[in-house]
Amino acid sequence: MKTIFLDRDGVITVEGGGYVARPADVRYLPGALGAIARLYNAGWQSVIFTNQSGVGRGFITDAGLLEVHEKLRVDLRTAGAELLDIYVCPHKPGDNCACRKPLPGMLLQAAVDHQIDLHTAWAVGDTPRDIAAAAAVGASTALVLSGHTRAYEPASFPGPVPTMVCKDLPALVDYLLASR
Ligand SMILES: [Mg+2]
Ligand SMILES: [Zn+2]
Repeated sequence: MKTIFLDRDGVITVEGGGYVARPADVRYLPGALGAIARLYNAGWQSVIFTNQSGVGRGFITDAGLLEVHEKLRVDLRTAGAELLDIYVCPHKPGDNCACRKPLPGMLLQAAVDHQIDLHTAWAVGDTPRDIAAAAAVGASTALVLSGHTRAYEPASFPGPVPTMVCKDLPALVDYLLASR
């Protein structure tokens, strides 16, 4: 089974409106839920891996984060997809955890928990950190331009070069499903 790791903010939900602390704060990007459902129907398993330093900074409660992710699961189910799992780094920069992207701790944990072969997995994100975390474990990487990064400039993009660059998640899914 193929696996895709999805960053949350800027890939599935709108980036830039401040911390997503409650379900009412969730704004989906156009076509994102449907794109995950298309992957699901094609036999892919989807895993979210998200940095949420707002937890460590005290702007997001553990309960609020769980509610947000329950909403995400419910809305995805309505769209026709089940998430395999959700991994969160709740730490702040400087906490020296092993899970905050660009470190690959969440991917490594998922690989253990779900017997995922990271070399055949894809990961998608909207920042250099997402790409670096996934490249570090040998996954293929897709940078989407629907969040933090609005244009891809290789000379000013720190870290590993993404395997591919796409407008958004639906465009990536078009590519992945066409190239089977
Ligand atoms: Mg993001
Ligand atoms: Zn962490």
